[in-house]
Amino acid sequence: MGLCKLLRESKKKSYEVFIHKQNKLYAKKFANTPFCKRLVFVPHCMRNTSVCTATEKDGCYICVKCDSCKISYINKLVKKLNYKALYIVKGGRIVEKIIKEQKPKAILGLACFFEGYQAFKMLEEKKIIMQFVPLTKDGCSFTDIDLTKVENVLNYIE
Ligand code: SF4
Repeated sequence: MGLCKLLRESKKKSYEVFIHKQNKLYAKKFANTPFCKRLVFVPHCMRNTSVCTATEKDGCYICVKCDSCKISYINKLVKKLNYKALYIVKGGRIVEKIIKEQKPKAILGLACFFEGYQAFKMLEEKKIIMQFVPLTKDGCSFTDIDLTKVENVLNYIE
């Protein structure tokens, strides 16, 4: 394995350890937060871009519910549980803006390890409870996630 790849892997591992620790630390508080005070952030790279006709507005994608990607399933669950909202976001900047406007008590974030690491740092400063589920396949498009894990966290309740 080359040096660059080795360093990348070691960084990823350190993010993974940090995220695992943070998830454990905040799981109970997340479970104690009513669904209606929780937001969900999903990365736009999870869309099935070969068929997706979601329109972009203010850094978010508005899903037209074509059922061609996992976001559709997550969105249905979010609505069923009466979560505050789900946003398909283009990047971190818009997340900060939405948090300022919506003032959630807790957030479930789905993203790559690096973004999860950054989000935990940012939300800790703002005293917002967070849970994070990492992508199982990251990249710029056609990324993937374990739906069972997402569903489990969405359903956390004490
Ligand atoms: S379900 Fe929504 S986000 Fe997924 S491909 Fe269809 S329109 Fe796009």
